[in-house]
Amino acid sequence: MAPALDSATREALAARLRFYRDLGLTELYRRPVDPALLAQIAAEPEPQTQTQPPAASGEQQPSQPNSFGEEPAIPARKGFPAPPKVADAVAPADRIAALQTIREDIGDCTRCALHKGRHNLVFADGDANARLMFVGEGPGADEDAQGLPFVGRAGQLLNNMIAAMGLKREQVYIANVVKCRPPDNRTPDPGEANTCMQFLWRQIDVVRPQVLVALGATAATYLLGHRQPLAGLRGRIHAVRGSSLIVTYHPAYLLRDPRQKKEAWADLQIAMRELGLKAPSRS
Ligand code: URA
Repeated sequence: MAPALDSATREALAARLRFYRDLGLTELYRRPVDPALLAQIAAEPEPQTQTQPPAASGEQQPSQPNSFGEEPAIPARKGFPAPPKVADAVAPADRIAALQTIREDIGDCTRCALHKGRHNLVFADGDANARLMFVGEGPGADEDAQGLPFVGRAGQLLNNMIAAMGLKREQVYIANVVKCRPPDNRTPDPGEANTCMQFLWRQIDVVRPQVLVALGATAATYLLGHRQPLAGLRGRIHAVRGSSLIVTYHPAYLLRDPRQKKEAWADLQIAMRELGLKAPSRS
């Protein structure tokens, strides 16, 4: 039988569970524990507790394997560079040119290793004066081939989602956290994402969408500047650079698990309410 927990450990565990619940993590699971290992831990002397100085802003805190040699279920919080100050508003008539300047500043980018596998840099697509902006993670193979975001299967679904909102793709603005395709479509690493985010911030400041929709956890993480499970972020409005940010599932995830489309539609309806849009009738 597992050794009984002392009251301080019980209280620390209860606090940790309350913290997870606040993050929206309500489903936890227990790994089977080797009784011999438990006995060994119970026999070990109490470790000396050390107070760590707080990590400086922007400093990466590597996630440490726990005492069982496992990766923690939630990686240690990583530092995020503070986003730049919101830029002055650009007049609607000057937005296309302002976006072109950002594209020119990116140039033939070699700021991170992702450039090595790129065929085309994927800057953005859509209306420079859009009231609604979607942010994805990064280009896939089709996007890399065409130099446009969301043109593959996930893009088809995104187009359908936009149409369901009563809009055309040309009326919204679409961009990604990173502008070059990560190898094998892996998630961009923090160095790559943080390097590229400076340009996404500038694009957001030019377009000034009333509503931003983060498609998936990577977009949500870098737009919000902290890592949190999607469950705790969906269903409400976050304030980001003067826009209302809604978090929903990535279309590629919805292709793998279409049962979640209903949930994604509920998220899009929050965006529609913010924009004062009514869904088109299906007749
Ligand atoms: N997935 C993304 O996150 N972005 C794209 O542009 C395409 C697929």
